[in-house]
Amino acid sequence: MEDRYIDFLDELRKLYDERIVGESFDRDDLIKENELLRKHTTIKIGGPARVFVVTPTYDAVVLTYKLCKKYSLRYMVLGNASNMLFDDKEFDGVIISTDCRDSEISSINIFDKDSDDFSEFFGKFGYKDLDDLEADAFYVTAGGGARLSAFANKVGKKSLAGAEFSGGIPGSIGGAVTMNAGAYGSEIKDIIVSVRALNEDGEVVILSKDELQLAYRKSVIQEKGYIVLEALFALKKGNQEEIFAKMRELNDKRRDKQPLEYPSCGSTFKRPVGGFAAQMIDESGLKGYRVGDMMISEKHAGFMVNVGNGNFHDAMEVIKHVQEKVNEKFDIELEPEVRIISE
Ligand SMILES: Cc1cc2nc3c(=O)[nH]c(=O)nc-3n(C[C@H](O)[C@H](O)[C@H](O)COP(=O)(O)OP(=O)(O)OC[C@H]3O[C@@H](n4cnc5c(N)ncnc54)[C@H](O)[C@@H]3O)c2cc1C
Repeated sequence: MEDRYIDFLDELRKLYDERIVGESFDRDDLIKENELLRKHTTIKIGGPARVFVVTPTYDAVVLTYKLCKKYSLRYMVLGNASNMLFDDKEFDGVIISTDCRDSEISSINIFDKDSDDFSEFFGKFGYKDLDDLEADAFYVTAGGGARLSAFANKVGKKSLAGAEFSGGIPGSIGGAVTMNAGAYGSEIKDIIVSVRALNEDGEVVILSKDELQLAYRKSVIQEKGYIVLEALFALKKGNQEEIFAKMRELNDKRRDKQPLEYPSCGSTFKRPVGGFAAQMIDESGLKGYRVGDMMISEKHAGFMVNVGNGNFHDAMEVIKHVQEKVNEKFDIELEPEVRIISE
């Protein structure tokens, strides 16, 4: 192993022992070498990552990031890896994973207007624009590693409406903010207030909704490579039964239309201007198109599914073929929505 990895791991393990590992966590579960990424990605593809670091706290994210910089190591942050297509070759770098249940990074806190101190709730995070907070809104903070499903359920149980659309998206808060995830006519942009993030200089910054520049599957976080530590959302009081009925309705729709029985990354391509990717793929006669174990779903042409032991090479062949055929028929370049990480 290269010296810089040895030194990096020595220092990381020491800092983890001092600051992160407590009664709840075993250090060897948090810091792993040569961890197979296919164990973590929803599409079940991806080779070993040189180092895989799980970050249960905000401090853990910051110190891991700073050490990657210090030792000039490539790094990448992962949430639930539901939008990732990794090469089968080694990822020569450090994966910073926020996927850690029952931890600070996955915590969700609902501000209780009757008992919580407003300034204490928001003050410790230093959110700006406090004067702009709306009187009839209810505020919720969620760590970058919290699952959207947990978030939607928790706020739903408190009768807070607005997050129903997110309950069936299998991502984390960090991944969802970065991608401005959305479904059935709503998106993260509709409910977010601000984000506490780590910038490229390793400084913790607060970004307002405007500064996040959220657009279709885009954000400043993605563009600048920031890391989402925590996000603040504003939701409105609703009716608990209606909230859960809405979530059930959307989840039924998903199960009905989407091939959830197979590993995938969700939509393979972004929606092109003037049409829908799935419809164009379908009309190009590509449903069921298969290379090895990677296939365009028969049920929903927008999904590329792994029907067995699919690999990166076959997935890329399917993606390229679909792009060519759709381009021939519609003169449109389909852009992958899934993040492709190779070399
Ligand atoms: C069955 C299925 C259905 C899906 N349905 C939808 C849908 O309806 N709508 C939709 O929008 N998406 C959908 N997706 C795609 C995916 O779930 C979303 O894009 C989700 O927001 C990704 O979150 P994640 O935590 O899995 O991110 P990851 O896949 O782990 O990462 C995605 C990107 O976000 C970055 N990232 C992750 N965490 C952070 C962080 N804390 N800070 C900064 N960057 C971060 C990563 O570096 C990467 O660039 C679906 C996927 C599947 C498998």
